[in-house]
Amino acid sequence: MAADPQATTTTSPRGPLVAILSGAGISTDSGIPDYRGPQGLWRNDPEAEKLVTYDFYMSDPDIRRRSWQMRRTSPTWDARPNAAHEAVAQLEGSGKPVRVITQNVDGLHQLAGLPDRKVIELHGSSRTVVCTGCEVRTPMAAALERVAAGEADPECQECGGILKSATVMFGQSLDPEVLGQAVGAAKACDVFLAVGTSLQVQPAASLVEIAVEHGARLIIVNAEPTPYDDLADEVVREPIGESLPALLDELHQH
Ligand code: ZN
Repeated sequence: MAADPQATTTTSPRGPLVAILSGAGISTDSGIPDYRGPQGLWRNDPEAEKLVTYDFYMSDPDIRRRSWQMRRTSPTWDARPNAAHEAVAQLEGSGKPVRVITQNVDGLHQLAGLPDRKVIELHGSSRTVVCTGCEVRTPMAAALERVAAGEADPECQECGGILKSATVMFGQSLDPEVLGQAVGAAKACDVFLAVGTSLQVQPAASLVEIAVEHGARLIIVNAEPTPYDDLADEVVREPIGESLPALLDELHQH
């Protein structure tokens, strides 16, 4: 966790930089459950956790076959962005400088209209496939078509390597470059909003500390208490789908 590249600290003439850290709670209204949080589905089901644990995945073809079936039936493919995702995209669309740091892999921020370059995906994206051999990236949809056509464990068409979703599995490290971008946004922002995250896992927790140390106003929107509530300038417990649009609207006025 030593990544700390040169942070961008330029202040924008368009107003304060808002950094939004989003966790599973922002996507539950879209029908996507919390898989990987401390109370997440995977954490409480050892068999399911194996499907997303790097060593098991790489060493066991049966785990990979089951993983591909799990991906085929993921609720992500039918999920639509909800009012909270849309409010974030609208804030950015209005010209406010916004960076989203997300623990989610569902791509719903981008589906709501947020440009890719504004979204830092700490845990990667389930909409992309990466080869563990040559690291080539391809769309998940194409791989799932191959699975549907009968390839139980499709291999890389470039090198024959093992394919996986471009997400950070248990047992894998976060991409240092992605983490560096998140640290940079936390340092540079004027307002740091933590939305739908329990702030009980790294790097989410340390990003909050970095933002506050660098003078950001901290707003926490989460149904349950977090370890950082005392540090926050504002804590909101109301449902995210209602409270976040109102909060961002307020920020937009200033
Ligand atoms: Zn390959």
